[in-house]
Amino acid sequence: MENLFGEIIDQETESTGFFADVIIPVPIPKLFTYKIPRNLKDEIGIGFRVIVQFGQKKILTGIIGKVHQKPPVAYDAKPILDLLDNHATVNPLQIRFWAWMAEYYCCNIGEVMNAALPSGLKLSSESKIQLNPTYDSDTSPYPLDDREDILLQALANKSEMTYDDCVSVLGIKSIHGIIKSLVIKEAILVFEQVKEKYSPKVETRIRLSKEYASDKKALEGVFQELSNKAKQEEILLKYLQEVPVYKNPDLNTKGIEKSVFTDANLSASSLKTLIKNGILEEYKLIISRFEKEEPSEEEIILSELQLDAVAQIKTQLEDKNTLLLHGITGSGKTEIYITLIKEALAGGSQVLLLLPEIALTTHMVGRLRQVFGSDMGVFHSKYSDNERVEVWNGVLSGKLSFVVGVRSSLFLPFDSLGLVIVDEEHESSFKQYEPAPRFQARDSAIMLAWLHQAKTILGSATPSFESFYNARTGKYGYVSLGKRYGEAQLPEYHLADILVDKKKNLLKLDFTRLLRESIQEALKNQEQVLIFQNRRGYAPYISCEDCGWIPECEHCDVSLTYHQFNEEMRCHYCGFKEKVPSTCPACGSNKLSAVGLGTERIEESISLLFPEARVARMDLDTTRSKYGYQRLLEEFGSGNVDILVGTQMITKGLDFGKVTVVGVMDADRILFFPDFRAGERAFQQITQVAGRAGRRDKKGKVIIQTRKPDQQIFHQIIQGDYKNFYIQEMGDRQRFFYPPFVKIIKVTTRHKDYKVAERAARSLHNLMGDIPVKKIMLGPEKGLIGKIKNQFIFESIIKIDKAGNAQAQFKQDLQSLINEMVAHKDFRSVRFVVDVDPY
Ligand code: ADP
Ligand code: ZN
Ligand code: ZN
Repeated sequence: MENLFGEIIDQETESTGFFADVIIPVPIPKLFTYKIPRNLKDEIGIGFRVIVQFGQKKILTGIIGKVHQKPPVAYDAKPILDLLDNHATVNPLQIRFWAWMAEYYCCNIGEVMNAALPSGLKLSSESKIQLNPTYDSDTSPYPLDDREDILLQALANKSEMTYDDCVSVLGIKSIHGIIKSLVIKEAILVFEQVKEKYSPKVETRIRLSKEYASDKKALEGVFQELSNKAKQEEILLKYLQEVPVYKNPDLNTKGIEKSVFTDANLSASSLKTLIKNGILEEYKLIISRFEKEEPSEEEIILSELQLDAVAQIKTQLEDKNTLLLHGITGSGKTEIYITLIKEALAGGSQVLLLLPEIALTTHMVGRLRQVFGSDMGVFHSKYSDNERVEVWNGVLSGKLSFVVGVRSSLFLPFDSLGLVIVDEEHESSFKQYEPAPRFQARDSAIMLAWLHQAKTILGSATPSFESFYNARTGKYGYVSLGKRYGEAQLPEYHLADILVDKKKNLLKLDFTRLLRESIQEALKNQEQVLIFQNRRGYAPYISCEDCGWIPECEHCDVSLTYHQFNEEMRCHYCGFKEKVPSTCPACGSNKLSAVGLGTERIEESISLLFPEARVARMDLDTTRSKYGYQRLLEEFGSGNVDILVGTQMITKGLDFGKVTVVGVMDADRILFFPDFRAGERAFQQITQVAGRAGRRDKKGKVIIQTRKPDQQIFHQIIQGDYKNFYIQEMGDRQRFFYPPFVKIIKVTTRHKDYKVAERAARSLHNLMGDIPVKKIMLGPEKGLIGKIKNQFIFESIIKIDKAGNAQAQFKQDLQSLINEMVAHKDFRSVRFVVDVDPY
């Protein structure tokens, strides 16, 4: 039998008696056991990446979860095909974290692994390879063998090759060994279905050879030898001028860009000679996006309030693991974080700062970059896979001890976290909906910190009720900041009654007189305006004025959203799109009109109402590209835009000094949403977007347009009375059994056949009823959206007692019920989705 390196191995491989339980990135409910071949027995450990065969055809990367001597009972263990590294890629804390996540969020550990590992670390038969742009066979210290050479030659003529291509080029089946070896030799990069290829910035650099760098005498000798070779001497002098000789020999091998010499018009051939003679050395450096900036010197001095907050945080964290920092918008939480992060790093701990997706390109990251420079890694969800691998390896190698990132940065290979911060902790985007694991990053961060014996700080101007509750009951520490930094004041609020204006004919293109006048005033003073409406597209839908016909998605139970920009109607659930018909397909009338209000339509209205203003729009449609969001913000920040219209994207973390007016187009839309969190969310979103106004010397103005101005919530928002709003809403939550008083689990049943979906949902619902824990069950009901992508949807909601381990038991029993259900012949193709703590 031939192994992956093409070596003949003896048959005894089969019987080392050692087995490994391997985590593989597929949704199966258990770990599979593989045999450990003899040649790998002493090299394999927990957290190592291995190649295994799964099913008949699939070759996958797995992670060793456990090594033991028990052969599986139900099947014959297949051998591990190969070991990918000589070190663990995943540490034991990570595996514990995965296991916790799988259990808590009712999914499989393989699904967690799949989310956790960047696909560049998951070789499979679907992987592709490309030439490493920094590889140079002439300067590489690693010789290639024949097969490797053939593969590289083949690759040189192509931009990429699939595994199958490699197999056919080499004419052998097992190519993982060769690919692995080429990866180790830094000749190729492996990736998986990435659209965006890796193109790092590569610099050619020159440095002193080791021999001379550590030996001043030898270097002096070189100068003597060069005394009659002026051109070479000049080059060497130039080098030493750029890189002074340090006492520490390691520093002496510091390089400079090759272009320094050419820019100084020094002889290229003399440089070549110096390199040939082994005095200087040429090498390539990948300029990572994390190494561009050096920390800047600028010291910021904390205000007394901030200093006091830092002191309180430290005292409270002596006996609490988690703390809520409740600081109003503009109170200067960032500087408080910075102080705490610096201290944690100085103590040798790692630090993770989680931010909602969209806040990642804002001022906060810029400010952190100023302070931490290249010691900080940024983990963005719009990064390509190779960029993720780069951060991953930075953490693994210890180069990055501080990472600021989106929710998936929880999975980075930290081994000694000391501090985890979750900023804007109330943000619903911390919850992952699809696919599994459907985790809440804030809650998972607390668990992760606990595994590391680290502390967690949750920061927000409008804390989630869950966190506020935990703070009030003493489970979390609590520190509040009630004043903005410096002279900045909170904005003044105005309610503008849409119906009153409408009656008086003062409502123009959905803008009340107050809002129009405030915008006009701001424009006159060359200040900036934000307009918030949480609905993208032109109008929610098109409707026939004669018969009331409304176009719906062919695949989902929702109406199509009208996008005027390209005269299209689009489904926001499945992406289906269609041109707007010229006449009503139901009655033939040509009176089709757009109903409702989306950001596109507001943008258009603004250009009609304020033709002199420069308008931009920020929503999912305008920020799809990698830097789309950043570019828009730069435009706005540099004053090229007067009015920015946007969805909830504009509510987060923006800190622009010239914004003085914020308009909330339709507050009722946020408030009257069929969800128990609607009130909480309205309070948060309105307060957050209002918090963008007047962040410097000039007081800001917030205009909230509504049809029902006398609702109490508006007055609580205006007074900043979060506490009373909370107390009142919590009364309702307690009475009607909602979190944080109960745990909610949502079970969704999907099938393309309505009858099957309904029957499956009923059966499972009845079975769940028998699980012996204290609970309230609702459903099964047709989902709020009854059909998505041709699948009919039914939902059961289970509210479970928080006491004891009721929910743990429920989840465990539920898992086996679902396994039973899908084993039943009628329900084999039904999909059951469990969502723990749904949003
Ligand atoms: P928050 O995140 O609490 O809304 P920020 O951290 O964005 O508030 O701070 C608001 C503004 O105050 C920012 O422009 C920030 O630069 C400034 N600021 C905060 N603390 C200080 C300080 N100690 N010295 C100088 N400027 C500060
Ligand atoms: Zn009609
Ligand atoms: Zn659809």
